[in-house]
Amino acid sequence: TTKPTKEKMKAQTYYNGDANLNDLSGKTISVIGYGSQGHAHAQNLSDSRMNVVVGLRKESSSWNEAEEAGLTVMETSEAAKAGDILMVLIPDQHQADVYKKSIEPHLEAGNALMFAHGFNIHFGGITPPDDVDVFMVAPKGPGHLVRRVFTEGSGVPCLFAVHRDATGTAKKTALAYAKAIGGTRAGVLETTFREETETDLFGEQAVLCGGASELVKAGFEVLVEAGYQPEIAYFECLHELKLIVDLMYEGGIERMYYSVSDTAEYGGLSRGTRVIDHNTKKRMKMILEEVQSGFFADEWMKENAEGLPNHIRMRKKLGNHKIEQVGKELRSMMNWIPDNKQSRPEPEP
Ligand code: NAD
Ligand code: MG
Ligand code: MG
Ligand code: MG
Ligand code: MG
Ligand code: MG
Repeated sequence: TTKPTKEKMKAQTYYNGDANLNDLSGKTISVIGYGSQGHAHAQNLSDSRMNVVVGLRKESSSWNEAEEAGLTVMETSEAAKAGDILMVLIPDQHQADVYKKSIEPHLEAGNALMFAHGFNIHFGGITPPDDVDVFMVAPKGPGHLVRRVFTEGSGVPCLFAVHRDATGTAKKTALAYAKAIGGTRAGVLETTFREETETDLFGEQAVLCGGASELVKAGFEVLVEAGYQPEIAYFECLHELKLIVDLMYEGGIERMYYSVSDTAEYGGLSRGTRVIDHNTKKRMKMILEEVQSGFFADEWMKENAEGLPNHIRMRKKLGNHKIEQVGKELRSMMNWIPDNKQSRPEPEP
C-alpha cells in the first residue's frame, strides 16, 4: 500500500446542491442491522421517501422496534434479495460471516454494497464481486445524533468513499444516499476506504477510547496513591473532563483555554507537554503502524474466532478498577444523567 503524501489537499466537500435524490428513484435500499446507525439511516431514508427495507435476524430484539417505526422488516437474506442497494450496519466483526451466508448469494450485477466503516473491505474480510458497486457513507456521529439532527432539519457531516465503481454511477448514488440521511445538509467529505479505516482505528485506539481513558485512570491513580480521597480524584480526573471536551468540541483547544482560569491555562500549557511527550508520539506511531500493516485487524479477528478471551478479561479488569467503583456511587448522586445504566452485557462470543 502507498503511504499518503505528507501535505494533503483540503478534503473535497459536497452539499445538497451536489446530490440528487432522483439517483435513488426506483431503487430499494436494504438497511441490514437496526442498531445505533441502522435505526437512524432507515428512519431518515424513509422520511426522505426512499423505498426502505430493514434486514434483521428473525430472533432480533430490534424487529418489533423497526416495525413500530413503520418500517418493513425482513430476514437478512430476504432483505438482501429485495434490495438494489444494501447498507451493511451490523457490528464490523460479524459482517464477513453475515455477508457470506446471507448477502453474497443475493447480489446481482449493478447492485450496490454499502458500508459505514471501511474495515471489512479494506482488510479483505469481504470481497464483493466485480460487477457490484462498493462505497461508503459514514456519518461522523452516533446514530441517535444522525436521527435527531435530521428531524430538526439539519444533518451530521459524513464521509464518503467509492471502493469500486462498477456501474459508473457509484459516486452519484453515494451522494444521493448521503443526502437522504441528511449528510449533505452539513457537508459530505470525500475520502478513501483506506484513509477512513486507518484513521478511525488509530483515533479510537490512541486518542479517543484508549488514550483518553488511560490518561484519566493514570491521573486518578496518582492522586489516590498520594493519599487523596478517591471521590475527589474522580471528580478532578474524570467528571470534569466532559466540560473540557465540550469546550474543545465547540471552539477548539484555544476556546477551552480561554474559558478556564489563567492558572489552569498556564499550568496546562507548561505541564501538559511533560505528560504527553515525544515518546508518547513514538508509541502512537507504532500503534498506527499496527493498524496500517493489518496486524491489529488480524489480532481482532483472531480474538473473535477464539471467543473473546482477552477482550472479556480486559473488560473485567477495568470493571474492578477503583475509578469505576467510586464512579458508580458518585454518579448515583447525579440525577440529571439520563441513563444511569451501570453495567453492560458481556460481548457475544
Ligand atoms: P450496533 O452494534 O449499534 O448495531 C448492530 C445491529 O446489528 C443490531 O441491530 C444487531 O441486532 C444487528 N446484528 C448483530 N449481529 C447481526 C447478525 N449476525 N445478523 C444481522 N444483524 C445483526 O452497530 P453500529 O454501532 O450501528 O455499527 C454499524 C456500522 O456502523 C459499523 O460498521 C460501524 O463501524 C459503523 N459506524 C458506527 C458508528 C457509531 O457511532 N456507532 C459511527 C459511524 C460508523
Ligand atoms: Mg438484490
Ligand atoms: Mg470513528
Ligand atoms: Mg470505529
Ligand atoms: Mg478543577
Ligand atoms: Mg482563561
